[in-house]
Amino acid sequence: MEDTIFDKIIRREVPADVVYEDESVIAFLDIKPNNPGHTLVVPKNWSRNIFDMEDANLCTLITRVKKIAHAVKEALNADGVNIAMNNEPAAGQIVFHAHIHVIPRFIGDNREHKTYAPGEAAAIAAKIRAALT
Ligand code: 5GP
Repeated sequence: MEDTIFDKIIRREVPADVVYEDESVIAFLDIKPNNPGHTLVVPKNWSRNIFDMEDANLCTLITRVKKIAHAVKEALNADGVNIAMNNEPAAGQIVFHAHIHVIPRFIGDNREHKTYAPGEAAAIAAKIRAALT
């Protein structure tokens, strides 16, 4: 097991704009979003990536991804979402705690990294939380 930045977020040792949490997963805004509202869905049980995940954990995770995808689409008024998982460095994985990206997409947008204005991430996280209730 590695003690990654996501493990610190799970333990609330590092702040994050958390949009959802239950016994199995936590979801929070990506600090370098491809689009505003880009959310990471992270299983609380550590695994490195898809290659060592228990099937049951993966099944639970994808159900939460679906729930959060609906909320992200609604809260951001997005036209669609990308669901992505990077597995191993060759595939772009930089944090070695399994996670799935939910990226809102808009007709004609691009996936270059965006930055949040002060307060913007907190406001977007609140909208996503509201869409989950
Ligand atoms: P991957 O490992 O799938 O390439 O992506 C990891 C993601 O975690 C990146 O998109 C990166 O921006 C995000 N990330 C890295 N460190 C932090 C952090 O401290 N807080 C948050 N909210 N996201 C982070």
